Amino acid sequence: MSTLEIRDLHVSVETKEGPKPILRGVDLTIASGETHAIMGPNGSGKSTLAYSLVGHPKYQITSGTVLLDGEDVLAMSVDERARAGMFLAMQYPVEVPGVSVSNFLRTAKTAIDGQAPALRTWVKDMRTAMEQLRMDPTFAERSVNEGFSGGEKKRHEILQMELLKPKFAILDETDSGLDVDALRVVSEGVNRVRSGGEVGVMLITHYTRILRYITPDFVHVFVDGRIAEEGGPELAERLENEGYDRFLTGASA
Ligand code: ADP
Ligand code: MG
Ligand code: MG
Repeated sequence: MSTLEIRDLHVSVETKEGPKPILRGVDLTIASGETHAIMGPNGSGKSTLAYSLVGHPKYQITSGTVLLDGEDVLAMSVDERARAGMFLAMQYPVEVPGVSVSNFLRTAKTAIDGQAPALRTWVKDMRTAMEQLRMDPTFAERSVNEGFSGGEKKRHEILQMELLKPKFAILDETDSGLDVDALRVVSEGVNRVRSGGEVGVMLITHYTRILRYITPDFVHVFVDGRIAEEGGPELAERLENEGYDRFLTGASA
């Protein structure tokens, strides 16, 4: 079993006016096999948390610790974090012109595992994963993210997660812009990965919609750079009915 431990994390973002504090003391522990939904209003710092965990250079950790099985994640380079088992599906994935999906995935897999996957099993695994995500086989030969529709980008993110088999997967707004059919396919993919019981999932979302398909073990409500409330799946239901107003106005529950 693996554990990701975030302790009193404070993070500032680089702006033209200098560093601006965003995260103001985040405490969160995720064990492999658990799914944690991180919910909250826009601008509350959810993406900042995601980027900070994978080492985006724009974000400065001003204090706090992040440990993966006791190892100091914040001391690792971006590549080292990926090899240690951290995975981020990006909110706005970048285009990589000229690199096919199939080459991109195989290169990533090789970098993370420290050796190239055996070709026969790899081709089979990739084909199976693509079928399950209802992706056309020709997709594997397209350039990464070039001309991908919103749904194709999200499927590609889940495909990466299924094949790279991280210890901890951070899915930032994986549900945004998906129609109901795509949302179902993407959710099924996440649930397949979860069902192995070996991956810890941080599911970041503003809306409760995806949580009808993926039942989280824990829900954390992010407000103003820290966790304002925590609970089980019932908290997501409550947010679906009540929204974030009571957190924003400071009114008590
Ligand atoms: P969320 O993902 O919850 O919507 P973000 O982590 O993206 O929130 O943003 C948190 C806060 O950081 C927001 O108030 C946003 O305006 C601010 N922020 C992020 N990047 C910058 C930047 N480059 N300059 C100024 N403010 C920024
Ligand atoms: Mg946002
Ligand atoms: Mg965000």
